[in-house]
Amino acid sequence: MRADFAAAYGREPDGVWHAPGRVNLIGEHTDYNDGLVLPFALPFGVSVAAARRDDGVIEVRSHQARGAVTAPVDGGPVVSEGRPPDEAWAAYPVGVARVLREHGAGGASLLIDSDLPQGAGLSSSAALECATALALCDLHGVEIDRPDLARLARRAENEHVGVPCGPMDQSASLLCTAGHALMLDCRSGLSAQVPFDPAASGLALLVVDTRAAHALTGGEYGRRHAECEEAAALLGVDALRDVKDLAGALRTLRDPLLRRRVQHVVTENHRVEATVGLLRAGAVAELGAMLNASHLSLRDQFEVSWPEADAAVDAAVRAGARGGRMVGGGFGGSVIVLAPAGRADRIRDAIAAAYAKRGWTAPDFLDAVPSGGAARVTAP
Ligand code: ADP
Ligand code: MG
Repeated sequence: MRADFAAAYGREPDGVWHAPGRVNLIGEHTDYNDGLVLPFALPFGVSVAAARRDDGVIEVRSHQARGAVTAPVDGGPVVSEGRPPDEAWAAYPVGVARVLREHGAGGASLLIDSDLPQGAGLSSSAALECATALALCDLHGVEIDRPDLARLARRAENEHVGVPCGPMDQSASLLCTAGHALMLDCRSGLSAQVPFDPAASGLALLVVDTRAAHALTGGEYGRRHAECEEAAALLGVDALRDVKDLAGALRTLRDPLLRRRVQHVVTENHRVEATVGLLRAGAVAELGAMLNASHLSLRDQFEVSWPEADAAVDAAVRAGARGGRMVGGGFGGSVIVLAPAGRADRIRDAIAAAYAKRGWTAPDFLDAVPSGGAARVTAP
């Protein structure tokens, strides 16, 4: 990356920073209900080679995008050079620079590279934000603790990109540690490290990129959000997190659709707590049952699954997986599968065969080893 940086900018970078993508082990559609999530960091992510600038300008280039984009960190027009001009992606790093400017950081020249698929639900956007944020803080000697930096990176995505994401992705990228998942309480913002080392139990976690388009995500995601708010209002609670008596809540609600939504959110929070209990007890293989239950709930109660996800989970379990589930908002993206390590190849083949039989685009596979959070890669 150093040589590419020198070719692009005519000088050496001051350093290289890396931030990982993440997979959410369990706790889906719980974040905006003030609930619990349990992500872990992937061994894949976004790297940023960076050099400090003192002219108040941020300049960004990416191996995954064309051209260069420059912008003053104190606001003002974003200028893009290159054919075709496509600067939408630059809103992520420029947004981070603009938020961090309020905390004393300044400009920089950045060159970005990534080994994480974009838009596959593995959080390439937060990896890009968090690698940029760490680089800018280090270059300008700004000290912000990691939970606060995660909040600022989230704000950059909310305010400068316009994506109303929750706190999970940036927290996972900055706070995760190797061999652990991160239990994050989306209401309090507090988090805890939970030991998670599938390989030590003879298991492997496969991420299956189903390669299915996210076409419906926008509208459906917003609708689920609104349905949960409506149900919480009818039940007289601030958020579905606060429903303690599920049976009573289901009796109160007349609309069967809202009953299904509440059933999912309340039981999914319990599944996160049960999963944390199993992990702390070292019973990693038993997670399979939690993943399967989560998938059925997302498919039948929350109704956000998609055919490629259902087929992948089904084929994996038939081929001997302990369990699996869709991850992310739904209607496209990835699936995770917990497999005995010795059967992982057979399970991958079974999923690929199920897709081929239906004439679908072949899925991609990644090995999800719980890895460390964002860090400076080169010595200061
Ligand atoms: P996810 O975070 O699940 O990968 P998002 O839609 O939230 O999906 O974020 C993907 C967007 O992040 C891309 O469309 C692009 O704008 C930006 N992005 C991510 N990685 C890179 C990269 N290496 N170079 C340029 N832009 C990137
Ligand atoms: Mg994202």
